[in-house]
Amino acid sequence: MTALATELAERIRQDGPISIADYMSAVADAYYARGDVFGVAGDFITAPEISQTFGELIGLWCAVVWQNMGAPKSFHLVECGPGRGTLMKDLLRAAQRAPGFLAGAQIHLVERSQALKGMQRAALRNHTVTWHEDIAAVPDGPMILVGNEFLDALPIRQFQKTGDGWSERHVTADQRGFAFTLREGAPENPPAANMGAVFETSPAIVDFVSQISARIARSGGAALLIDYGHGVSATGETLQAVKKHKPCGIFETPGEADLTAHVDFQAVAQAANGLKVYGPVAQGTWLGRLGIKLRGVQLAKGKPAETARTIESGIRRLTEPEAMGALFKVIALAHPTLATPDGFQQDAER
Ligand code: SAH
Repeated sequence: MTALATELAERIRQDGPISIADYMSAVADAYYARGDVFGVAGDFITAPEISQTFGELIGLWCAVVWQNMGAPKSFHLVECGPGRGTLMKDLLRAAQRAPGFLAGAQIHLVERSQALKGMQRAALRNHTVTWHEDIAAVPDGPMILVGNEFLDALPIRQFQKTGDGWSERHVTADQRGFAFTLREGAPENPPAANMGAVFETSPAIVDFVSQISARIARSGGAALLIDYGHGVSATGETLQAVKKHKPCGIFETPGEADLTAHVDFQAVAQAANGLKVYGPVAQGTWLGRLGIKLRGVQLAKGKPAETARTIESGIRRLTEPEAMGALFKVIALAHPTLATPDGFQQDAER
């Protein structure tokens, strides 16, 4: 039993079953508090850790958005869930080519893990950075926000269709461990569903997107959110745990495995009140439009063959549909007066 398992079992014994969202939230805090969980030696690997071109292209994307905002002398550059700080570091290195961008950027990182804050501080030691535990603490003003694999870590609720309609899944505990149990509760706008089907919602994602949308609608800017998930709300159970690059049970070793769920991009788009929504577009398509292949060729020029191969295979991993190119999607939420952001001009806007 992990320390968190003991603590949660005790809490359930005293107060009764807890929602999936409460379980997920407790697990996320304990898990990310461990620190460096990324990369080959960790539990999972993310796009910025696979290829520096990922953060660089996002940096150029931000620079163009900033120019289209009228190149404000001061603006908030916000990253939510920055992990090791690699994406922000690569982003800043690329975006500094736009004169005035770096000088105007007030960098804010939204992060709850003390251990990860330490890693981010080291990665960004050449920049002035402010940390916040919650987006609500970021000051008002024009903002460019990015988040890669942030939404998938936010808590979800799970509802199940039964003979009596919908019920909400909770987590209970006995001597054998944790198990699902059903309690009264129904989702707000459930889709058509067969008996036994599970429907996931995320009040935390809706709340986060509503908050950033209100800020952008008020003060200008755009948000770029990249994650794995589906474009249209649908039933299906997607909550999953990953440890050492292998799936494991969500009740196994809580706090020692990464617990995430697919992002419902339709729900994200619906929560973006007052903004224009672009995408979601498949990550492979979006990176292709931004010229990732060409960037890879430039980067590999004059490098040893082995390095060139690593650069190329990293880019393939990010873009090929069988790898991360199709499941991962990119959505932009922008002030209605902002020009269509890069990588979305090819799609009709919603
Ligand atoms: N963006 C990084 C890391 C993704 S992992 C990358 O692509 O490599 C998820 C990140 O979100 C971690 O930094 C984690 O500590 C942070 N996080 C998770 N839940 C959070 C919450 N509720 N508030 C703030 N940060 C959170």
